[in-house]
Amino acid sequence: MDEQPIRRAQPGYRWEAVDVLAYKTEGAAPFKDVTRQCLFRADDLGCELRYFEVAAEGHSTLERHEHAHAVMVLRGRGACLVGERVQAIGPQDLIHIPAWTWHQFRANSAEPLGFLCMVNAARDRPQLPSDAELAALRRNPMIAAFIRS
Ligand code: MN
Repeated sequence: MDEQPIRRAQPGYRWEAVDVLAYKTEGAAPFKDVTRQCLFRADDLGCELRYFEVAAEGHSTLERHEHAHAVMVLRGRGACLVGERVQAIGPQDLIHIPAWTWHQFRANSAEPLGFLCMVNAARDRPQLPSDAELAALRRNPMIAAFIRS
């Protein structure tokens, strides 16, 4: 990033000089209709702040990893799986995803779900559930009805 101290907000949850990127560019992780914008990558903080947007009826990847996430919803409504819980989420809600916790975000049918996500700059790669892990997750009926993989 350059040294410009302020990147002005643009219409449609965009920011000056910030590209809209594919959610994931490597591997075969399943997801549907998600974009990513990297807002800050600060070596002195050791973290990145990203903005993800899940289109209506879209979903992020069901995954887990050693690094944690701190999430704040900016727009829209949806639901998330964090560990054993599926809960509705909306604007300004804060979601903490601890290390090694299965998680997935889904947008409602009416509007995109947009959220900030803070992560370590240096982090491990996400793991996808094995068939056995998926089966274990699906033993909880609420989780079975929610997850997309
Ligand atoms: Mn994740």
